[in-house]
Amino acid sequence: MPRTRWISRISERQVVASGWVLLLLVTGVGCSPTGEEGRLDRRQNIVLVTLDTTRADRLGAYGSNRGLTPNLDELAAQSAVFELAIAQSGVTPVSHASIFTGLNPYGHGLRVLHGSRYLLADDAVTVAELLSDAGYATAGVISAFPAGSRFGLAQGFGVFDEEFLEPPGPDTVQAGGTIDTGRSQRRADATTDRALAWLRQAREPYFLWVHYFDPHDTEVLPPEDFAPPQPIEGVGSSDPFEALRAVYDREVAYMDAQVGRLLAALDKNGTTILVTADHGEGLGEHGWWGHGILYQEQIHIPLLVRGPSVVARSIETMVRQVDLAPTVLDLTGFEGERPPMDGRSLLPLLEGGPTPAESSAPWAYADLMNKRVFPGVGDDGNVNDDFLLVVVDPPWKYIHHLEKPRESELYHLGDDPDEANNLLATRLDLGTSYSRQLQSLDPLPKGPTPESQMTEEELDRLRALGYVED
Ligand SMILES: [Zn+2]
Repeated sequence: MPRTRWISRISERQVVASGWVLLLLVTGVGCSPTGEEGRLDRRQNIVLVTLDTTRADRLGAYGSNRGLTPNLDELAAQSAVFELAIAQSGVTPVSHASIFTGLNPYGHGLRVLHGSRYLLADDAVTVAELLSDAGYATAGVISAFPAGSRFGLAQGFGVFDEEFLEPPGPDTVQAGGTIDTGRSQRRADATTDRALAWLRQAREPYFLWVHYFDPHDTEVLPPEDFAPPQPIEGVGSSDPFEALRAVYDREVAYMDAQVGRLLAALDKNGTTILVTADHGEGLGEHGWWGHGILYQEQIHIPLLVRGPSVVARSIETMVRQVDLAPTVLDLTGFEGERPPMDGRSLLPLLEGGPTPAESSAPWAYADLMNKRVFPGVGDDGNVNDDFLLVVVDPPWKYIHHLEKPRESELYHLGDDPDEANNLLATRLDLGTSYSRQLQSLDPLPKGPTPESQMTEEELDRLRALGYVED
């Protein structure tokens, strides 16, 4: 971001703000949390927790009966629980960039994992930068390389703790494709220790981001003596897929236990806490393990918000990762100039305001540039080796396959939450409308072409194809 411009603007405001506080102290004028005169009251502490690779349906608060998440469920009981929060990508740095900038991926420009110049650009403006410039102490304590400074995600954090079991090596980012995170990560207990240590000395107000990574892979596992809150189904199963699902569940349970330690330290000080995920995880549904495609198991994420100005309740209105940045700014009473964002503030909903009619709620965008994320992998004909562009417009969801438009998909999430019954052939009108909507966004990558990737000519050819099937 162009820091000098923002800093000068905020500094003037801080001087005014300090005077306001003094005046209120001297005159003894009370502040209501929402009243005009009470704006400064909003300079509350904010903790944002991102649970990497965490599907909403593993939390008890989202209907799971697996008993994996007692701490998150207790938090949920005191929180606004967003029943349908949608990730803007299934790729860790991409979706985190959407969380911090309030922009869809085509807006912030971080699209894939590899390629030496694929990172959130310096001139992007993150909520951490805005709050830092507004006088907040800021810290990021993260658990894995894909959420780190290599991707520009440290912007705005005065302290950025990305000390992993092993530092990333030259092959961690692979020119031909994905990241091999390996041991460039750490377990939730280590991350929680560091977050708690920072909190003990933090100057207020503060903005703390804590990122957990345990469910992402099997490279780093919970300690052997970890006892989950209830027995986990599938442990020791001879079915390798059942056994893999059990490992995932155990990692979620361990992460929850560590989140519980963090929450215990935050319980009493009026901090607003937001818990969400960067994306979910395929556990065999749709023939897919991992993330990188865009069915609901990959993009339906939890979102819990607890704080002094938040009404605990369940909210059906669909919300998006891009809504988080404007929401955090509103929670803090940020009055500086804001960069353009695709998201809209959830503060009115958090404060108990009426939920908008479905027809007036904004739709959610998500994409995956798999042709660039997993180059070459899909030459076996996998239909997901494509540019996937999604509209979630409840109850409808449209998945556009850019290069293979005949594989595009339309689901009625109300009747078919598992996305098993593609209705595109019978509702071409809707599909065409959604694909035009996507086309109008011009969402293909415009940044430098990653090494070993498509040429600009190839991209031009894709553009020429258009997004609408003839
Ligand atoms: Zn991730």
